[in-house]
Amino acid sequence: MTRGARSKVVAIDIGGTSIKSVVADVTGDRVEFSQDRVVVTPHHANTVQALEGSVGQILEAVLADYAEGPVGVGISTTGLVSQEGIVVDGPAFKGYTDYSWAAVLKSTLSGSVTVMNDAHAAALGMTSRGSSHAGLTVCLVLGTGIGGAVVLGGSVLTGRNGMSGHFGHMKSANSLAQFRCICGTTGCFENLGSGRGLAFLAGNNNGPEGVDETVRQLSSDLSSAEAARASGEMFESAGHQIGSAIADLANALDPDEVLLAGGLLEAAGSGEDSPLMVGLRRGIKENCIPAIESNLLISFSDVQYPNLTGAALAALAAR
Ligand SMILES: [Zn+2]
Repeated sequence: MTRGARSKVVAIDIGGTSIKSVVADVTGDRVEFSQDRVVVTPHHANTVQALEGSVGQILEAVLADYAEGPVGVGISTTGLVSQEGIVVDGPAFKGYTDYSWAAVLKSTLSGSVTVMNDAHAAALGMTSRGSSHAGLTVCLVLGTGIGGAVVLGGSVLTGRNGMSGHFGHMKSANSLAQFRCICGTTGCFENLGSGRGLAFLAGNNNGPEGVDETVRQLSSDLSSAEAARASGEMFESAGHQIGSAIADLANALDPDEVLLAGGLLEAAGSGEDSPLMVGLRRGIKENCIPAIESNLLISFSDVQYPNLTGAALAALAAR
């Protein structure tokens, strides 16, 4: 394609309960889409066959609208993805192991198919604005757990096993030894510094729904006179754990920027007086080497669909 020519890429984000998709415009080396063009398809698929059917329908609709066909498809997916773009293990769907979207879609599509783990796609999307694509950025997504990725010069570090960025499983001196983490070890940061950690501390162990419910409840408690103090203390304690993890990463990598996003941050608020942010700043201050801490740039991502944006950028790079 000649530089400056317009074309399309399709970006698809496969989550546990919905598939988001968009046809993005490509001009030269830029990819853009408007938020109102994002289609969210809820699904209750728990098998890979059902998932394949949903993705197939989405692509069929796209191909019917664009006679010339998109130049590539970028897929962000839950699960572990190899460097070759094979879904090694996707526990959200039965049979989603050693799965190649490129092989499955090759009869429908003429363009390339690029597949990324959703945390890695999100990091690529988060760094697509401003100057963060140029240097070394640590992206942290604060949600049920603490995930993220390191982006260096516009490329995501995926790691040998595709598992780079499991920052929540670094170890905290304060973490509870009796609480075994989902990773199989104990003492992980995210057991105290994430939605799952807050649910555990609040005694709400009802799986993913319990995590969302706890974070929602604590967030609404922040504005209630009686309950604000207790919920504020819990958010501040979680923030302190997250800040300590950020300090470890900053000490190891001396990044140009630490970029934050995620549902926990949205629920707790990213203002300087938010208890989560107060704890986070304290965790950094106490644990970061002063020469790094004094210059450490903490920013908040404003990219609304980071996974789709990252998947579209990956498709653009592969075309
Ligand atoms: Zn862990």
